[in-house]
Amino acid sequence: MLKMTDIYKAYEEVEVLKGIDIEVRRGEVLAIIGPSGSGKSTLLRCINKLETIDKGSIAIKDKFLVQTQDGEAVYASGKEEREILASTGMVFQQFNLFPHMTVLENLLEAPMQVKGLKRSEVEPYARELLEKVGLSDRADYYPSQLSGGQQQRVAIARALCMKPDIMLFDEPTSALDPELTGEVLKTMRELAAEHMTMVVVTHEMAFAREAASHVIFMADGNIVEEGEPAAFFAEPKEERTKAFLQNML
Ligand code: ATP
Ligand code: MG
Repeated sequence: MLKMTDIYKAYEEVEVLKGIDIEVRRGEVLAIIGPSGSGKSTLLRCINKLETIDKGSIAIKDKFLVQTQDGEAVYASGKEEREILASTGMVFQQFNLFPHMTVLENLLEAPMQVKGLKRSEVEPYARELLEKVGLSDRADYYPSQLSGGQQQRVAIARALCMKPDIMLFDEPTSALDPELTGEVLKTMRELAAEHMTMVVVTHEMAFAREAASHVIFMADGNIVEEGEPAAFFAEPKEERTKAFLQNML
């Protein structure tokens, strides 16, 4: 579903990603953990071209978003690129809902504007998604009238409304009060159980352990250690991983 090969990325002269390889199969949930500044968000943002890479390749559903040719990263263009990017949905730490639109309008916006669908074609699905995230009674509210946890569930429903093949989450619960993280994680666990392909940057170790099919520990722009959650958490091999996990518990 997603294959990233030998990804390099620098800001000015600072190398942030130093040769990252990742593969996520259909229906898998990849959890990415690691200390602040290790490059987790940058890596995630490269998948939907919110950041560009310097070298390497990224393919989604076997279509190359970017490939390196003669040492240069060459991106797909036009319709092809739009199609590849449309197959990803992203959920940010800070919700990023459109504040001047109601919940329902937030969901309808991209399918209508980007995909050119009619309201009547999208609205039933949008309402179904609101039901799924437990917010069918909030369709006509504005984001400012919702709790952080509710806003984040709207953000998840909004991303799903584009029918993505892969969902990208960047610390979706870290801006929430502790009592509100549970409802968002529940929604994400349900998605995982329905075999949505997901890449989740998180510091929720319980979520990574229970919902992920694979865990990657990043530090300083490298993958230090990875594995299946059971083994990864029970018997981390690298000292850096051990130290990090000890700090998290
Ligand atoms: P956190 O857990 O704090 O979110 P992270 O693992 O997501 O950290 P990134 O946000 O990917 O880390 O940042 C990795 C490195 O890249 C950091 O050293 C950061 O300062 C740097 N960086 C990120 N974005 C930019 C930018 N737009 N310009 C310059 N440097 C940047
Ligand atoms: Mg980050």
